[in-house]
Amino acid sequence: MVEICAIASGSNGNCYYIGDETEALLIDAGISCKQILLRIKEKNLNPQKIKGVFISHEHSDHVRGARVLAKKLNCPVYITAKTYNALSKNVRPPWPKFFKPDTSITIGEFAIFPFLKNHDASEPCSFRISHQGKNIGVFTDIGEPCSNVINNLAMCDVAFVESNYDENMLQEGSYPYLLKKRIASSKGHLSNLQSFRLLHENAGNRMKCVFLSHLSAENNTPRLALEAHQLLMSKFEIKLTSRSGPGEVFIL
Ligand SMILES: [Zn+2]
Ligand SMILES: [Zn+2]
Repeated sequence: MVEICAIASGSNGNCYYIGDETEALLIDAGISCKQILLRIKEKNLNPQKIKGVFISHEHSDHVRGARVLAKKLNCPVYITAKTYNALSKNVRPPWPKFFKPDTSITIGEFAIFPFLKNHDASEPCSFRISHQGKNIGVFTDIGEPCSNVINNLAMCDVAFVESNYDENMLQEGSYPYLLKKRIASSKGHLSNLQSFRLLHENAGNRMKCVFLSHLSAENNTPRLALEAHQLLMSKFEIKLTSRSGPGEVFIL
């Protein structure tokens, strides 16, 4: 049994909980430690099971709470050396465990497989987590899907997939030109349409549920994100994550 929950998801902060009966891990810690622990308890999950926090890249919406959380839970933070060096000294987590892309890490029954993706960070990684033959993917902060993302998505039973912006809302919105360009670039974020295409073309028969993740507050709405994925709803469940609180706990 694996419990899966977006503790926070959005451009304001990301944290994803994946745990079994005895061990758990977090992908990213981009809200405060206090909020992470409150939300984990709110969903009746157990923070004492957490044996590792994995950092995808150095942007603050993925790492903000990691330093305090590591001290509070006395658990290691897994991070690449380049990502660690890109963090300012006062944000760097204590007791970093350096991982390399394409080299898996074992925690209890979990095997965590990090791989490189397209995003404007020093060494941005996404993760596929295996547990007794099942796979869970956390795929956010992706400018455009590369073969790594496509191949790992195809193996997943459950996935968090970025659905960051509606293309019209971004183009017509109030963001400055350069920021719009960055978000829409191949090193920025996935739009609703890109996310739909990625899933339509690559999700495998084993996919049970996709959580639309990392929604923008300015350039998207939950309704637009869901509508963009409507055609997939006959194949697998499509659920939303929340920018302001924990999402539903999915049991795999
Ligand atoms: Zn992000
Ligand atoms: Zn980012």
